[in-house]
Amino acid sequence: MTSPTESDAAAVAREQFDRCRPYLAGLNGSPGLAEWLFLPERVIKVVLPVERDNGDVETFLGYRVQHSRIRGPGKGGIRFYPSVDEDEVTALATWMTWKCALVDIPFGGAKGGVACDPSTLSPAEKRRITRRFIAELGKTIGPNSDIPAPDLYTDSQTMAWVYDTYAMMHPGENALPVVTGKPLDLGGIAGRDTATAQGALYATQHFLEIGGKPGLQELSGLDVAVQGYGNAGRNAAHLFHEAGARIVAVSDTRGGAYDPNGLDLNAVDTLKDTTGTVLGLDGAKELDHREVLEVPCDILIPAAIENQITSENADRIQARVVVEAANGPTTPIADDILNAKGSAVIPDILANAGGVIVSYFEWVQNLEHTQTDPGDVQTRLRTKMHRATEQVVATRAALIEAFDTYAADWKERTGTDLRHPDLRTAAYVVAVGRCLRAAEQRGIWP
Ligand code: NAD
Repeated sequence: MTSPTESDAAAVAREQFDRCRPYLAGLNGSPGLAEWLFLPERVIKVVLPVERDNGDVETFLGYRVQHSRIRGPGKGGIRFYPSVDEDEVTALATWMTWKCALVDIPFGGAKGGVACDPSTLSPAEKRRITRRFIAELGKTIGPNSDIPAPDLYTDSQTMAWVYDTYAMMHPGENALPVVTGKPLDLGGIAGRDTATAQGALYATQHFLEIGGKPGLQELSGLDVAVQGYGNAGRNAAHLFHEAGARIVAVSDTRGGAYDPNGLDLNAVDTLKDTTGTVLGLDGAKELDHREVLEVPCDILIPAAIENQITSENADRIQARVVVEAANGPTTPIADDILNAKGSAVIPDILANAGGVIVSYFEWVQNLEHTQTDPGDVQTRLRTKMHRATEQVVATRAALIEAFDTYAADWKERTGTDLRHPDLRTAAYVVAVGRCLRAAEQRGIWP
């Protein structure tokens, strides 16, 4: 049984934030400032009447949460998924703030979503939901205030509709920078489709190179399991394979496929494209969608949804490194279990930041009416991922070095014991620290 707070994304986001507070003097001294940094600036809920293809009207709920614009305009994806609600979108927006700060791009955090089952929607229905959602959001999004992007069950086509709807509502303006992840013919940037997975690869390779996981120096020859076979997971499987790893398991909502000798990814792609699932691959063992997390492997890439590695299964995870391509896949209790076992978790705000980094390059090129060379995209993405990975690893080492001092101070002020910092807490110290400094420099208005 998992603890009730583990399935509550908002409670998970709170716990992750609270775990970095003992290491940030500026937050310890000012609980009010900490609350301001943590709570979302603005929560928007909209009701969307949409005509189905059969003429029926169905009413959907949509959300956009602008968590923080302390360091720049809000930035974050739009998802179409049944579980979308205010708490989930708020947690995801919060993670976007820390992610943009960690990789040092001048954005705050935001997220949006529509509660719906995308498997039941035709493309025309999806288009009508998108247009109505963007129309309802009205002036709350914009190139200088809040810039959406793709997420679960939305893609470059969805972003083209977002752009078109916004452009129709703002004639005569350059509307291209209002959304990223657009098609290449519509102001998009080369490499955005694969950027999340590519960033995860750069972070993992560099993490191993700089000694993040003693005993593992390079990807070549390592076994990798991937949960989720969509934009993040499918591209990660291919890129990690091209980098020399063996992909032993993949999965989607319906189940998974496992072969300790390595899967033929071309066969997986063909099966997924023709049947809609990776389940039923010739010669592979069938798994249910959670079993993929527990197969023997060196690296596990959760690339589906939140709350997958929990107190219920963390002790059965065999991977030595978990690379969080998904947002929020590991709960704080599971973090502690993995940490105690010696498994390293490259946290979501680092591992999947490639998508928002390349989105940032797209936004800049749209503002400047230019195009970016694909080679430049990769060079700049790699540099940013490497730098952030180094900062997280170095920060964790520094926190551990000074742990006794932090622990004594914490004990004196709260009477409780301080837990040892893991990579996620180190990443939060860097990210929240940057937001804190920006808030202090701006000052409180008025
Ligand atoms: P997607 O819609 O392209 O793919 C999602 C995949 O996850 C599908 O294969 C689906 O079958 C699978 N899935 C869904 N629920 C599942 C479950 N319960 N068990 C197993 N598999 C399940 O979405 P995506 O864009 O790849 O996003 C996946 C994750 O990556 C999300 O957490 C998202 O927030 C995160 N992410 C995406 C991007 C991006 O640029 N697309 C950027 C950063 C983070």
